[in-house]
Amino acid sequence: MAETCDVCGEPLGEENVSRCLICGRRFHMAWSTDAPVENCGHAFFDERSSALGFICSPCVDENREIGGSIIDMG
Ligand SMILES: [Zn+2]
Ligand SMILES: [Zn+2]
Repeated sequence: MAETCDVCGEPLGEENVSRCLICGRRFHMAWSTDAPVENCGHAFFDERSSALGFICSPCVDENREIGGSIIDMG
């Protein structure tokens, strides 16, 4: 059964998928800048764990305080 992105509702592939650190949803996240997908979330640097993670767009909207740690992927 094909999984769908919880952000945009489009099917997810084997690649270019990430899991949200906050809600655990899986969503489109390009693994390279030339990947043929729209990003449905953002890369995020967690200063407490010094780890890079990903957060879906709805969670970014709901958690404005993390906006400052979002990495702009261009
Ligand atoms: Zn999506
Ligand atoms: Zn989320």
